[in-house]
Amino acid sequence: MIGFDTILIADWSAGKRAPQKPSKDAIWLGIARQGVPEEPVYCRTRADAESWLATFLKSEAAAGRRVLAGFDFPFGYPKGFAARITGSDDPFDLWDWLEARITDAPDGANNRYDIAAEINGLFDGPGPFWGKPNQTDWPEIPYRKSGIVYEKVAERRTCDHAAAASSSCFQLAFPPTVGGQILMGLPTLSRLRRGTGAAVWPFENTSSSAIVLAEIWPGLIEPAVKDRLRRAPDGFIRDREQVLLLATAISRMPADELARLMAEPPEDAQEEAWILGAGHKDRLVELATFRLQPPPLRDDCFALPAGVDWTPVDAALGMLRDRLSPVVGTEGIALRDGLGRVLAAPLAAKRANPPEANTAVDGYGFAYESLGEGDQVLPLVEGRSAAGVPFAGTVPKGHAIRVLTGAALPEGVDTVILEEDVTLGTGEIAFRAGLKPGANTRRAGEDVEVGDTILPAGRRLTPADLALAAATGQSEMTARERLRVAVISTGDELVEAGQDAAPGQIYDANRPMLLGLVRQFGYDAVDLGRVPDDRENLRAALDEAAREADVILTSGGASAGDEDHVSALLTDAGAMAQWRIALKPGRPLALGLWQDTPVFGLPGNPVAALVCTLIFARPAMRVLSGQDWQDPQGYLLPAAFEKKKKPGRREYLRARVRDGQVEVFKSEGSGRISGLSWAEGLVELPDGAVTIKAGTPVRYIPFASFT
Ligand code: AMP
Ligand code: MG
Repeated sequence: MIGFDTILIADWSAGKRAPQKPSKDAIWLGIARQGVPEEPVYCRTRADAESWLATFLKSEAAAGRRVLAGFDFPFGYPKGFAARITGSDDPFDLWDWLEARITDAPDGANNRYDIAAEINGLFDGPGPFWGKPNQTDWPEIPYRKSGIVYEKVAERRTCDHAAAASSSCFQLAFPPTVGGQILMGLPTLSRLRRGTGAAVWPFENTSSSAIVLAEIWPGLIEPAVKDRLRRAPDGFIRDREQVLLLATAISRMPADELARLMAEPPEDAQEEAWILGAGHKDRLVELATFRLQPPPLRDDCFALPAGVDWTPVDAALGMLRDRLSPVVGTEGIALRDGLGRVLAAPLAAKRANPPEANTAVDGYGFAYESLGEGDQVLPLVEGRSAAGVPFAGTVPKGHAIRVLTGAALPEGVDTVILEEDVTLGTGEIAFRAGLKPGANTRRAGEDVEVGDTILPAGRRLTPADLALAAATGQSEMTARERLRVAVISTGDELVEAGQDAAPGQIYDANRPMLLGLVRQFGYDAVDLGRVPDDRENLRAALDEAAREADVILTSGGASAGDEDHVSALLTDAGAMAQWRIALKPGRPLALGLWQDTPVFGLPGNPVAALVCTLIFARPAMRVLSGQDWQDPQGYLLPAAFEKKKKPGRREYLRARVRDGQVEVFKSEGSGRISGLSWAEGLVELPDGAVTIKAGTPVRYIPFASFT
């Protein structure tokens, strides 16, 4: 057998029961299939983890899926150690020896220090185990390492050296420690091995086993974990990220490569065990780094057809739509973290809504077919059905039962009458004829059936989407990583708001505006400040932006003049085009790639910068972030202004709606920032000529439509 269907990575713990709220220092289990991670499993105790693992390994095997389960503690001790304890160099004898002695209470209290003390007693002189919670307990265990001689048994295994692991199996306390985890982990492995028939790498031949247990070490992918912390600091839990990333990395490794890796351990690994991937750190980090996941944009994605002078807006948008693709990877997230996130895969209902037929009102329920002609009198059964407290029995024909809104319809009930339409007697109700069958009830699944797609891939989740997902039984989803957008202002004339401005200088107005837009669109904004009109500085800023972000927005310097260094640099880099778009306001837009990162070189003029961001950068960033393409929602409304427009360019005017009519700002001057602030949206005038009189319908797009 070659290759694994499922990779599971366990981050073990020697500690007491962890808090209910997911935290580090508990046990985390990462799972990945076909290179795609699932939401890691959080276990508060070793007992929880062990029973979850036993069930999981067996059910994977039963489903015909081959599993590689990695654990982050040594499977063996340095050569010669086992023989001192058990008289044999077979590591499984040591596993059994520990399993027979280690005790572990439900709250995680355990005897690992007693057992370590017992082992130390089998050695001459102090050690090999050292480190404990206080100076006084367990006199057989030295508090510090000094004075211990690792002569007959080495302090570290061969693979610890190969992996540059920082801790020794004999260190029981003080971080980074792994000594306690081994003592508290090997008994579990011993039981799992026996209970599931798993083969243990590299002690046994694993090639024909459906379940393989192996030693791993998350330290091997530390740079990938750091990268994640930098990119997604909110709610970061180190242990959770480690298991998620390592499971993903191994799952992404081609089967033959993994097979070669598993064929590698040297001779003494038969006793000492081996860390899977030791010596292959760079490769694992490469596989674990999400940013590598989507294929890069093509070099020519911003190229324009030869000979084109002015590109119409729609043609420009069509090109962006066709040539761009998502640049961010995917990750599993919890529903509670879902607001504003982009779904990477469609979400289907796990449960119907409503899950059961229920009543839409407070009233009385009965079987419709048991009604006679004319006005009705029905005896009431004892009891009632309320939301969450259903009536257990059956309502006999010709009887009614009290029901409250949201309550499941009891057996024998399919129709409900509103309490206001009933006269309540003693033990009976009376009401007029004329009710329809099924009145005032909600059918099971009438809203959503199990398996229905509730939300498509590319959807940016709204508060209502979270309600829908929760109601239909979902609590986790696969989302795109957040798009990171760097913002840079260019121009010798710019100074920072609040600083002194000399004659000839102006305040940088674009940066706060563009950073704000980026945040409103739901992306992470990376503020890279102002850069003077000088090529070397700009080059350095673009380098930094390409490292830090997935998209770069610059403003200023995008035309073809002497000081237009953004276009000059992108042209030198060979992947840029001046997009002369038939659009007002907006001088040329410079679109290019800087080290594979898309750059939107926006005009410096704030009005043009805003319009170009809303019209071009917005839909492009949606696609780059994994969302669907979406034209902004506009409304035809009567104009409250007059204008004669020449053919040739599409035009956007700063506008707002008052009394159902569209007003435009008193000046079209493109330097008027006050007009941007006055406006609540844009009026879009078509490419051709138009004459607008008071009352002519025009297309108004509220700023709120640009999401
Ligand atoms: P440019 O595209 O660099 O030729 O700039 C066009 C106009 O926009 C010039 O008047 C600039 O001074 C102005 N401008 C450029 N960048 C900014 C900015 N960040 N804030 C305000 N005005 C700017
Ligand atoms: Mg400039």
